Amino acid sequence: MFKRFLKNNNVQGYRVQQLYDQYFKQVISSWDELTNWPKDLREKLKEEVPFTELVNFTEFPSSDHKTIKVLTNTKEGFPVESVLMRNKDRITVCISCMSGCPVGCKFCATGRMGLNKSLSTHEIMDQIMYFQRKLKATGEKITNIVYMGMGEPLLNLKHVSESINLLTDSNVMAMSARRITVSTSGYIPQLEEFLKKDMGVNLAISLHAPNQKLREKLMPTVAKLNPLDKLMEVLIKDQKKRNKKITYEYLMLKDITDTPECAKELAKLLKNQIVLVNLINFNKVNGISYEPSTRKRIEGFKAVLDSRGITNTLRYSYGSDIKGACGQLASIS
Ligand code: SAH
Ligand code: SF4
Repeated sequence: MFKRFLKNNNVQGYRVQQLYDQYFKQVISSWDELTNWPKDLREKLKEEVPFTELVNFTEFPSSDHKTIKVLTNTKEGFPVESVLMRNKDRITVCISCMSGCPVGCKFCATGRMGLNKSLSTHEIMDQIMYFQRKLKATGEKITNIVYMGMGEPLLNLKHVSESINLLTDSNVMAMSARRITVSTSGYIPQLEEFLKKDMGVNLAISLHAPNQKLREKLMPTVAKLNPLDKLMEVLIKDQKKRNKKITYEYLMLKDITDTPECAKELAKLLKNQIVLVNLINFNKVNGISYEPSTRKRIEGFKAVLDSRGITNTLRYSYGSDIKGACGQLASIS
């Protein structure tokens, strides 16, 4: 992340380690606190490398204060959002890998924005370090990270992978890969490339429909290019190799994806895999005419999955009162 500076200035290995240690582990809040570096080198760093590339951090806490949405800007002025969620013994941060998203799924507020830019590794890490610095004041730390904010991680694979490497490297953040989840709408070639890296993180697939036809309606860009049967093939093959559970996200859209027929078809599609199906009720988005499912329909859907042995949960949506819930991230505050 500070590569160019370190290389241009021929910074020695132990100094690099001091920088990583102070920045990521000790969680300093300005370059002035990098006191184990000689003053001249520190001043040069201060001149050449911004402490954070994202600027104008503004917080929007939910009414119960368990969720905080943070809105920031890239230096070009594009909006970026991230969300901190407190839940029992977990502090999860949901981060963006893009400002906007080029995929344009029909139910998603971010998709409606289109793509402003893919974020750099520094900009991805800035979202995490902002919360880490905030939590330092109360002696707390982030426990889990999900790449589920704005953007499609597999279309920014280089920087997403670099950020995961920083998070999991024992000399940098030293987080367990099992506490990191990457959510994707399912770009097959990029998924194969990502799986090859074998980073040990959890994978969440935004499935949202049990068949190709319906998936193409809801997520036309990604679904047309990446047929469902081929996607399943790749995932099943990988699962055989790794024996690791896959999470499928499934959006409950009233009268569209929440019917008993869809539930049966979904159970059939996933029957030979180790899965967790995360049912997500649709969060309303201005200007999008889909409706959330009803409690009765959701219970019926769950019952079909349960009776067919498909493990599932209904994901509670944090932060909808601050438009910080899934699919609502679109810089409207
Ligand atoms: N682009 C990635 C990750 C970001 S979206 C992906 O699509 O997986 C994070 C999750 O929010 C996805 O599962 C997405 O489908 C879901 N989502 C999008 N819009 C939503 C909405 N309006 N209500 C509920 N979930 C939504
Ligand atoms: Fe992009 Fe994910 Fe939204 Fe689809 S659901 S538009 S892939 S952020």
